Amino acid sequence: MSRGTPPSRGRKSAPAPKPQPAPTMLAADDDDGRDALALSASENADLCAGCTRCCDTVSIEIDAPRSAWEYDQWVWVLHHRSLEVYVEKPERWFLHIETRCNMLNDQGRCSIHGQHPILCREYDPRVCERRLPLLDIVAWFKDATELETWLAAKRPAHWKRLVQWRKAKIREGEKAARASKRVRLPAAALVQIAEAGSASHEPATHLPERKVARKRR
Ligand code: SF4
Ligand code: SF4
Repeated sequence: MSRGTPPSRGRKSAPAPKPQPAPTMLAADDDDGRDALALSASENADLCAGCTRCCDTVSIEIDAPRSAWEYDQWVWVLHHRSLEVYVEKPERWFLHIETRCNMLNDQGRCSIHGQHPILCREYDPRVCERRLPLLDIVAWFKDATELETWLAAKRPAHWKRLVQWRKAKIREGEKAARASKRVRLPAAALVQIAEAGSASHEPATHLPERKVARKRR
């Protein structure tokens, strides 16, 4: 799991926020060569004042889809609320979720500053998404239609494969439905099976399977 560059986790330090407009450029004296982990709490507080952007989202890097079933899986994901997908150069795909961190307090500060995850600490507020444009992002899909439209325009060979795969799957289903009609048992046999089943009183051993995203390689 990883976060894109630069959108990622952020940090808030304990001092109260000082509302101020978001800077659009990196201040020269901020660029002192120090690692983000070396910033003090008050420096973080100043840099993050008035902003909670990176604590309001989660992004998880995913395998770049190639096969038809993989695209179908992300189409399914994008039919869900609050789930988005974006692509960064050269070919990095991310699942993006709008969700506020529970550790963010009412003042827009990290309530566990000092114990907050390393991932948050390593996200540098001097060069974060608040200050620098997200130049690496080449596509952003807020829903399934946006992904399919992009696919058709930018990856026509992949789109064609997806369309053909869907048609083949539907044909398979129709064929299976026709076959199952042909092997229908006579009514008397079904009654006998039902009676035998109710006599055994055996508990059900199969629970319904949950709908989860799986790799099928
Ligand atoms: S742990 Fe703290 S810094 Fe990290 S996302 Fe949550 S509020 Fe933000
Ligand atoms: S200034 Fe940057 S690091 Fe700080 S909260 Fe905003 S996006 Fe996150």
